[in-house]
Amino acid sequence: MVSLYVLESSTINNVTKGENIMALMTGEEYVESIRKLNLNVYMFGKKIACPADHPILRPSLNSVKATYDLAQDPQYEDLMTATSSLTGKKINRFLHIHQSTKDLMDKVKMQRLLGQQTGACFQRCVGMDAFNAVFSTTFETDQKYGSSYHKNFIEYAKYCQENDLTVDGAMTDPKGDRGLAPHAQEDPDLYLRVVERREDGIVVRGAKAHQTGAINSQEMIVMPTVSMKPEDKDYAVAFAVPTDTEGILMIIGRQSCDTRKMEGSELDVGNSEFGGVEALVVFNDVFVPNERIFLNGETEYAGVLVERFAGYHRQSYGGCKAGVGDVLIGAAAVAADCNGCAKASHIKDKLIEMTHLNESLYCCGIACSAEGKPTEAGNYMIDLLLANVCKQNVTRFPYEISRLAEDIAGGIMVTAPSEADFRDPVTGPYVEKYLKGAKDVSVEDRIRILRLIENLCLGTAAVGYRTESLHGAGSPQAQRIMISRQGDLPKKKEMAKKIAKIKD
Ligand code: SF4
Ligand code: FE
Repeated sequence: MVSLYVLESSTINNVTKGENIMALMTGEEYVESIRKLNLNVYMFGKKIACPADHPILRPSLNSVKATYDLAQDPQYEDLMTATSSLTGKKINRFLHIHQSTKDLMDKVKMQRLLGQQTGACFQRCVGMDAFNAVFSTTFETDQKYGSSYHKNFIEYAKYCQENDLTVDGAMTDPKGDRGLAPHAQEDPDLYLRVVERREDGIVVRGAKAHQTGAINSQEMIVMPTVSMKPEDKDYAVAFAVPTDTEGILMIIGRQSCDTRKMEGSELDVGNSEFGGVEALVVFNDVFVPNERIFLNGETEYAGVLVERFAGYHRQSYGGCKAGVGDVLIGAAAVAADCNGCAKASHIKDKLIEMTHLNESLYCCGIACSAEGKPTEAGNYMIDLLLANVCKQNVTRFPYEISRLAEDIAGGIMVTAPSEADFRDPVTGPYVEKYLKGAKDVSVEDRIRILRLIENLCLGTAAVGYRTESLHGAGSPQAQRIMISRQGDLPKKKEMAKKIAKIKD
């Protein structure tokens, strides 16, 4: 096991800028730090020796690398970096504890920027959302129980900030029979739980599903996935471990068209540089030392942690999905140019509709941030009602945006021949002749943009742009429950009665 509790100083780029000391890694240093991990990753029934160098997995690493590269770019410095409230140093915003509504809005703007630059899920947000949810929840738990979870978390957060780490925020348990509480499951491991309590820490067993970016993270914060009652005490647990801790095993989730990345054709994959990745992460009796525990049996705070993490991640989607939406709208407009129909009024109107829907997502992300409030611990929390409205829209609008993009692209998006046929001396000339669109556009460029749309709507990126839009940060019904709780219907009834002059 390679421990990351102390990173080699050579991998960290401590430079002085203005008044602040910065603890930022370059993109290359980040990639090297991931390469050094002793991860236990499986795909297609085989252990992957070096996930960082696997052609199916590398694009996902590149997306996280972009969060480091952009932080080094002076033009994005304001969005990509922040001053740590814990150390006063310049840190990557993905490790920031939000200090104001401006911080909350800058977070969404940063996510939109990264969506625009990668056209994919850049994965690092789950750690940022876990940071902020754990920060306030541990504070309140300590207030009630006199525990030291907040101090544990602050020390951990400082360590991650100083070393500019990527942290996976692991929430979703497999959940088994959805009608049963964690302790009532036939297999008790279907929710992650404490199986042993020792003097120096705890031992946990279970799994976390759909773990975005787990293989590209040096650290992992594990949280409960549902509200709990006292009988679920062993399941109300939150902690952090390095991703290569003994007992952790990750199984990569298949994505549509994933093996195209093994074929060596840049043209056929649509987005050859960037991607996202999810894994089923198994915890086989993993030891967690006391100083890395953030919740251990205080069941009433499990629901608080879930609600806050979900709220922050529902805000996040107002940024990242809008950024990827920008790429898809742009791709549809380029496809219209290639097809020679850009001037048609119905095409223009479809692009307007896509823009309207996409900006509506962003509006909600900004609105729930602007309406944020400080927590008892001092960091800023988004407006929960507006964040849930944001995510509810995300469960719908990307589907409509994708439908319109496919409408504009035309059926050739899913029937175009492969690059091998395009380059072949026998078939190539026919592909060149019969796939010709507008006079000034090459057939190769037309195929390139169609493949990008295919990638976003149906291929590997569709995990992040479509199905994740539906189920990520909680499925639609989870938001409807929150909207019903936060919507304050009695107050609205009072308003109506007052105007109608109805007396109780
Ligand atoms: Fe970030 Fe969006 Fe990916 Fe979630 S889905 S990790 S918010 S890019
Ligand atoms: Fe997500």
